Amino acid sequence: MTTVKEKTRTPDTGFPDVEALPEGAPNPRCQWYYGVCTDAATHHITRPAVGDEEPEANTYCQRHWVLQMARDLEVHMPTCTGTVDSHYAGYGPIGGT
Ligand SMILES: [Zn+2]
Ligand SMILES: [Zn+2]
Repeated sequence: MTTVKEKTRTPDTGFPDVEALPEGAPNPRCQWYYGVCTDAATHHITRPAVGDEEPEANTYCQRHWVLQMARDLEVHMPTCTGTVDSHYAGYGPIGGT
């Protein structure tokens, strides 16, 4: 007979506590769009609210957070009429300032 491994409430996933996530963050995994990433999400990029919508927060591992910010600045900004500030409600370490 096999024993069923008991689930623990606080597995050591490396994910931040959900309460520490910025407003609008759906879940604490790396949401790098251009590939699968299983690294722990430690940083966020939060887009400003549009109209009645909530701000949209995406979480990334540090490496992909840097790459996403670079992509915003190097790929998107040159063809966008908006200011850099207009693209962010917040960004940085999750749970940080
Ligand atoms: Zn990642
Ligand atoms: Zn833009």
